[in-house]
Amino acid sequence: MPELPEVETVRRTLNTLVAGKTIDHVTVSLPRIIQLPDDHKQFEIELQGHTIEKVERRGKFLRIVMDHLVLVSHLRMEGRYGVYTKDEPVEKHTHVIFHFTDGTELRYKDVRQFGTMHLFKKDEDLQSKPLMHLGLEPLAPEFTAEQFINLMSKRRTMIKPVLLNQKYVVGIGNIYVDEALFRSGIHPEQIANTLTAEQLTRLHEAIVSTLADAVEAGGSSIKSYVNGQGEMGMFQHSLRIYGRKAEPCYECGTLVEKTVVGGRGTHFCPVCQPLPTRQKH
Ligand SMILES: [Zn+2]
Repeated sequence: MPELPEVETVRRTLNTLVAGKTIDHVTVSLPRIIQLPDDHKQFEIELQGHTIEKVERRGKFLRIVMDHLVLVSHLRMEGRYGVYTKDEPVEKHTHVIFHFTDGTELRYKDVRQFGTMHLFKKDEDLQSKPLMHLGLEPLAPEFTAEQFINLMSKRRTMIKPVLLNQKYVVGIGNIYVDEALFRSGIHPEQIANTLTAEQLTRLHEAIVSTLADAVEAGGSSIKSYVNGQGEMGMFQHSLRIYGRKAEPCYECGTLVEKTVVGGRGTHFCPVCQPLPTRQKH
C-alpha cells in the first residue's frame, strides 16, 4: 500500500500534470470505485465541464480540487493515475477516465480494484466521511511537538498502534513508524503515556524528518510503487531498520529483531530501543 510520502509524490506529480485542465466528460467502467454519489452515471454527469484548480492531500487521500467540486480519491493497494493523450491505447484495469477538453486524459488504473472516489461540493469534503475523523497532518506546519505530546500522553496503549491509528496522526504507516521509532530510540511496545516529554519531542522530530526525507526521495518502493510519471521512488535505500531482520543495527551492530506489534510486522533494535524495565515481559 502506498504510504503518505508516496501519496504526496503522486499529488505533486498530478498537480503539475492536470491543474488548469477542463473535464469534457468522464467514463466509469467499474462502478464500485465510485462511492459517492451512489450512481456512477450521476458522477459522470456532475463532473462535466469542471476545471481542475489543484491537487491537494489529506492523509493518504488525494483531493482533486475543482472550481465547484472536490474529488476525494484513495489509491488503496494498487491504484495509479496517469496522464495520456487520447490516442494512446487504454491499458487493462483502467476503470475511470477523465477526458479533458485539450485532448489529454487522466486515467485511473487499479488492478486490485480497492481504490475509492467520493465526489463532493466544494468545502463539504473535509466535514464528511471519509475525511472527517482524520487526525493531525504530520507534514503540516500546524503539527507541533506540544500538540503531539498532549495527544500521546493520554494514550495507555503501546506507542506503535497509537501512531498507526489515523484518528490521532494520519498517514505514517507501518514502514515509517518503525523508522521513526528507531530514529528516536523508542521501543515499539512502550506504553504511550509512559514516554517522557523529551522522548516524545524526539519522536515528533523523527516522524517529521522521516516523512520529509521520504517525500524528498520520492517515496519508497518496497512493493511496486511508481509515481505519476513512471518514476520509481528511491527511499528504500535509506530505510535504516525496516526490512533488516537479523542484519546488524547501523548504530550498534546488534542484530535487528522482527516481532509482531498490534498485528503488524515490526522491526527494532533491542539495544537502541530498550523497553523500560518495569514494562519487560
Ligand atoms: Zn542498535
